Amino acid sequence: MMKRLAVYCGSASPADPRYLELAREVGAGLAERGIGVVYGGGRLGLMGAVASGALDAGGEVIGIIPEALASSEVANHDCTELHTVSGMHERKQKFTDLSDGFVTIPGGVGTMDELWEAVSWAQLGYHDNPVGLLNAFGFYDHLIAFNAHMASVGFVRPAHQNIIIAEDTLSALLEKMASYQPHTPIFKMKASDL
Ligand code: AMP
Repeated sequence: MMKRLAVYCGSASPADPRYLELAREVGAGLAERGIGVVYGGGRLGLMGAVASGALDAGGEVIGIIPEALASSEVANHDCTELHTVSGMHERKQKFTDLSDGFVTIPGGVGTMDELWEAVSWAQLGYHDNPVGLLNAFGFYDHLIAFNAHMASVGFVRPAHQNIIIAEDTLSALLEKMASYQPHTPIFKMKASDL
């Protein structure tokens, strides 16, 4: 049962308006399905658009922002709850602890850090929640190919290649995530091991 999902996305606003529109639609789509959004707590770029899309549709939005970024990412006090944390690491642990899965939509380096940590922590057994990738506009075609390449060379175990669940639409992605069968992890990491 997915009550809340962590949504990872860019803090930039690309010139192509489809990206911000997509982020708003994802926020609204989750709210309409009764799924709360856990996200980085800022107002900028796609992050802000996800939050406002969800809030405008009556959804729950939990923002988690590190103290040092609160002004540069323009902390979003419209959130249902806004947690200020001491740093990036605590933020990512909270994303994981407060959510029942992850949805990554287009973004940059920070988004990649968050996505791959969710994958890595699934491999290490810190969580057993689904890791979804919304491949809208083919934005992640190369990442999906690279993930397969890492597995074919032998850096990703065959059983772990499918930790990333990729789909082109939110409905298809959520449907697959809801029936996710957890992978067998390498370890069973606890919070104190991170
Ligand atoms: P970006 O995709 O680079 O626009 O970043 C999106 C989100 O990732 C924002 O919430 C950033 O605060 C966060 N972020 C940026 N850089 C890092 C980093 N080095 N480690 C973890 N998160 C980051």
